[in-house]
Amino acid sequence: MNVPIPDYHDVLIAGAGPVGLFLACELGLAGCSVLVIEKEVDLSTPLKRAPFGLRGLSISTIESLDRRDLLAPLKARIPRDEIAAAAPWMKEERRPGGHFAGIDFFLDRIDDGRWPFRLPRSAEPMAADLESIEAVLTDRAEKLGVKIRRGLAVSEVHATDRDVTARAGEEAFRGGWLVG
Ligand SMILES: Cc1cc2nc3c(=O)[nH]c(=O)nc-3n(C[C@H](O)[C@H](O)[C@H](O)COP(=O)(O)OP(=O)(O)OC[C@H]3O[C@@H](n4cnc5c(N)ncnc54)[C@H](O)[C@@H]3O)c2cc1C
Repeated sequence: MNVPIPDYHDVLIAGAGPVGLFLACELGLAGCSVLVIEKEVDLSTPLKRAPFGLRGLSISTIESLDRRDLLAPLKARIPRDEIAAAAPWMKEERRPGGHFAGIDFFLDRIDDGRWPFRLPRSAEPMAADLESIEAVLTDRAEKLGVKIRRGLAVSEVHATDRDVTARAGEEAFRGGWLVG
């Protein structure tokens, strides 16, 4: 089958989930040209909203968002009432800072003195929904010049020592690296 080869991107990312989008933002910030290929047409689905799409954010996730000025937009976007109903621990004064294998840990029980890269201000554990997380990251990625193609599933990848070609639907995309 002859598939036209469109323009080249430094990095192709398969999947516009939180990891693919955050990576796309970091690469965009570093000046790379990035194409994200996502199989779902729509970012919005009931599975990405509370209760199924509820995600407790660990302190390191919160700090990563905060470093890129994404925490405030995320807090402004989350549907507070839905999140509060699905995550009643959000109302508690002493909230778990994360978990290890499902076992909650509380920051006042952790000696974080050896984490040299923690932000000086203390982050508050919080919950969000996947839809809001992905929407905020999508917005930033697009502002950084990242291209996002939705409704295309990567079905085949061919890598040489020079470049990568990813096929999705009837199209082919060429890049320096493929991540997914
Ligand atoms: C029920 C549940 C509860 C969870 N709770 C928490 C929590 O409280 N806190 C927490 O930190 N983490 C939690 N997680 C884990 C968290 O959701 C994942 O770590 C996170 O979503 C991983 O992000 P990702 O971008 O790597 O993958 P995903 O979120 O899986 O995104 C992958 C994306 O790639 C797309 N895709 C897949 N195949 C292709 C293809 N061939 N071509 C193009 N696109 C494709 C998908 O449509 C999707 O958009 C939970 C997970 C589940 C399932």
